Amino acid sequence: MSTTRRENLVARLAEAGQLLPSGAKGKAPDSFLITKLDNVRYLTGFTGSNATLLVGADGTARLFTDPRYTLQAAHEVDCKITIAKGPLAKSIGKAIEKAGYRRIAVEQDHLTLAAADALGKQLPSRAETLPLSGLVENLRMVKDETELEAIRQSVIANSEALEQALQQLKPGMSETDLAAEIDYRNRRLGAERPAFDTIVASGERSALPHAHPGDTLIGSGILLIDMGAFRYGYASDMTRMVYVGKAPSKYKQAYAAVLEAQLAAIAAVKPGVKASKVDKAAREVLKKHGLEKEFVHSTGHGLGLEIHERPRLGRKDSTVLAEGMAITIEPGVYLEGWGGIRIEDTIVVTATGCEVLTPTTKELRTV
Ligand code: ZN
Ligand code: ZN
Repeated sequence: MSTTRRENLVARLAEAGQLLPSGAKGKAPDSFLITKLDNVRYLTGFTGSNATLLVGADGTARLFTDPRYTLQAAHEVDCKITIAKGPLAKSIGKAIEKAGYRRIAVEQDHLTLAAADALGKQLPSRAETLPLSGLVENLRMVKDETELEAIRQSVIANSEALEQALQQLKPGMSETDLAAEIDYRNRRLGAERPAFDTIVASGERSALPHAHPGDTLIGSGILLIDMGAFRYGYASDMTRMVYVGKAPSKYKQAYAAVLEAQLAAIAAVKPGVKASKVDKAAREVLKKHGLEKEFVHSTGHGLGLEIHERPRLGRKDSTVLAEGMAITIEPGVYLEGWGGIRIEDTIVVTATGCEVLTPTTKELRTV
């Protein structure tokens, strides 16, 4: 990562950290211990599997990792690096003592009790830890150009993978066969790994919003495909429906209602709008069609280095949308004993509204 970009991110973290209300006796933290790997990657560019980042409120940053990553860290990271011979906690404790930090904010949603205990044993006696929650995750909501380009590439490849996989679709193929085809195609198109377990749900099983593909053979009827992959570290996410055979009118009507809801939610996206308002836009369309009770999840979610990030576009999310946020819009309806329909695009909030990145058609599709 470039020095400027890393310094900017670290400075923003330190600045936001000063506003934390959680400081003991009203005092802000003087340092931040970032243990969640996605957050470490965001702030430094480091992609290894073992690392902690110590950031001072003055903007100094030091990455701790182990000897497996000596070369990789030197290549990826531009801040100071400590290669710990033993447990990272020991080296971190020493560095905290040397720097004179006294109020260390730790990621409470991530640090396990065991890790917190190990760290506590290494801290200087006068040092205290303060709970840190969501600070880096909030910074991560707005993507810069480099991040948006990675998401764009990921989305384009994911859509191409669907087209290639659907060419292999034959009646009698199992759900797992098609899921494997999707994962394989994504890999061949440059993906590092699936962004989540690919969902292929046929017939009545499509009524399970997060169905795992199984031995079920794909016959005539509904087919729901939810797929995504990481490329250049960033996720894509898309759901498309295919009807195998001639689509009955009940399916056509429900599909049209979900598509109308999805388009209404997309039309509601612009900077300054609350995430909950976008959710409401989708929900109101489904209500008009008598399907609001069948819409059992939120309208979408942020995505980036993780497949599910802030904001969550649900009923109660008061996050105000801002230019550069990458989110999904994915209303769906699920009818037990019949099936489910969901349509999902990855979009980015622009200065005046939003741009739908997913190029795949949303016309009713049959094979
Ligand atoms: Zn999805
Ligand atoms: Zn999604």
